[in-house]
Amino acid sequence: MIPFIRLPNRNLSNSNLSNSNLSNSNLSNSNLSNSNLSKLIFSLMIGMTLTACGNTNQSVDDGDSSSSDTGTAQVTASNGQVITIYSSRNEQLIKPLLDQYSNKTGTTIELVTDKAGPLMARLEAEGANTPADMFLTVDAGNLWQAANKGLLQQFASPTIEANVPARYRDPDSRWTGLSLRARTIFYNPKKVKASEIYTYEDLGHRRWRGKLCLRTSKKVYNQSLVASMIHHLGADRTAFAVKGWVRNLATDVFSDDVSMLKAIASGQCAIGIANTYYYGRILEENPDFPVKIFWANQKTSGVHMNVSGAGVVANSDNPSEALKLIEWLSSDEAQGIYASADKEYPVKNDVPVTPMLKSWGTFLPDTMNVGEFGRMQTQSIQLMDKAGYK
Ligand code: FE
Repeated sequence: MIPFIRLPNRNLSNSNLSNSNLSNSNLSNSNLSNSNLSKLIFSLMIGMTLTACGNTNQSVDDGDSSSSDTGTAQVTASNGQVITIYSSRNEQLIKPLLDQYSNKTGTTIELVTDKAGPLMARLEAEGANTPADMFLTVDAGNLWQAANKGLLQQFASPTIEANVPARYRDPDSRWTGLSLRARTIFYNPKKVKASEIYTYEDLGHRRWRGKLCLRTSKKVYNQSLVASMIHHLGADRTAFAVKGWVRNLATDVFSDDVSMLKAIASGQCAIGIANTYYYGRILEENPDFPVKIFWANQKTSGVHMNVSGAGVVANSDNPSEALKLIEWLSSDEAQGIYASADKEYPVKNDVPVTPMLKSWGTFLPDTMNVGEFGRMQTQSIQLMDKAGYK
């Protein structure tokens, strides 16, 4: 089910709404402006429409939020500025940072959390009436889609240009990466030696027959990975590798990286591909988790890097404040916290990583522009489909 802006049992954050409690509202006593009121009502109608339609496309993307992690939250402050964020990053991950920004600046932040697909559908449906100022999500493929649908506006920000390397930003400046996610190879050291592992594409070689585990190709992370392979290897070599992956599978594809990593630990398979922060989450609970990390493609294109990131919503009422928040998220002050909250890597150079990430060592990252993943997404999906990768 797609949730929508619930009528919260609290004051809505808009400065004009600060004295009205709409869950129990007596609108005639509140100082709602007409435009704010019509925006709110429109949002609620859209939300109800989407809810009635149901979510028929769960596989588009699940961002980082789960179905139990949807709804609204508010960080209240008092400078009169309000920013509404549509976020597919889960609330507990980003709220402490938003609290910090709010305390520092006095800006009130309204946070609406859902999966990336439904949030984009909602932005499209709400159009000019959207309350959203900023879109925050994971995977450059999602950010590219939002920009491609016209949901984000261009910004000019010397701060972001200075803080975020160009390869982690949209070449047309409609979104920027804010944290880095490395997708690499993991293996069971009882079954495989590190010296036997090379590249993503090599996992299609017949010596891995019956040993490989993969997450579903429906996940945008794999669509982006395969897009990067097409970029580096060309379509033919990538198709050959992906067909090899499918032949080599030890078992059906997994719906998430964590169960795949656990299948490697249990010996169900020997090797697989996952994002490092999932590994970090498991290690935090079980430091003896019997799976090792391998930095892929170190002699060729480097480790596949993706981003979580943000953009200013095309129909934002408050684009300059939204941009200020995005700039702050790219700063030294926020970067370490933002990246370490989910065991990701900072997008800004020279920001220290946590001891756990440090223990995994340094690696050569892929340097292609992450925006390419979106541009090549359709080709990537078609290639995987043709190769029989479910
Ligand atoms: Fe994830």
